[in-house]
Amino acid sequence: KLTSREFHPQDTVVDVDGVKIGDGSFVTMAGPCSVEGEEQIMEAARMAHAGGAKILRGGAYKPRTSPYAFQGLGETGLKIMRAAADAYELKVITEVMDEAHIDVVAEYADIIQIGARNMQNFRLLEAVGKTGKPIGLKRGISGTIEEWLNAAEYIAVQQNSNILFIERGIRTYERATRNTLDLSAVPLMKKLSHFPVIVDPSHGTGIWDLVSPMARAGVASGADGMIVEIHPDPLNAWSDGDQSLNEKNYLQMMKEVEVLVEAM
Ligand code: PEP
Ligand code: MN
Repeated sequence: KLTSREFHPQDTVVDVDGVKIGDGSFVTMAGPCSVEGEEQIMEAARMAHAGGAKILRGGAYKPRTSPYAFQGLGETGLKIMRAAADAYELKVITEVMDEAHIDVVAEYADIIQIGARNMQNFRLLEAVGKTGKPIGLKRGISGTIEEWLNAAEYIAVQQNSNILFIERGIRTYERATRNTLDLSAVPLMKKLSHFPVIVDPSHGTGIWDLVSPMARAGVASGADGMIVEIHPDPLNAWSDGDQSLNEKNYLQMMKEVEVLVEAM
């Protein structure tokens, strides 16, 4: 298989418009769960940059559990996120949920995110694969390692070898955390595949004060980077405020992560 270590023994380095992922460095993607407005995303970009993140995250098309919850700002959200990222020289990662939005998302984003709920949306995987853009492929909510690898294969067969695996926690019997961050998946995926692996300690825990310890655990597990939710005002965030770090806690986490990265 194209995604297997046997087929491609060397690590694949994914080049995100000059930001390299998988070259032994640890790359941070930070930003709000949802793009909420110009001021919010500009402030989040400033925070992300101040902490050393290279990539701004933020959702403009949101896969919400309830159809009555905020669904995202759509193209307006993409535009203002791109402007905020450019103001701080950050790259952009954002989710696409629907084939119909791939062109517009590809226009504004540097990495196209496939959300956990779409890990096995095979037509969507083929279509994003065709863009040739880097694809951040989240692990499905109940996705096995084998299913996750096969999902990546759907992208790779479209001649796209810019794939990032994102471990975002899986559903287990445990409800004290939102999901169970499967850290063993990091070294396992790196053994089975040649693509970089990113951890998401935000969705992996759902609880802001568990994010920094699990980010550090992610570094220790050998991840190539992390994606983390930050917000200028987490208490008033439109989505995922409980797992979002404010500026002070984000900067503290980044300091602690840096110490570990240096030690690795
Ligand atoms: C997100 O990144 O905000 C998100 C919806 O993540 P997931 O698809 O992992 O639930
Ligand atoms: Mn979120």
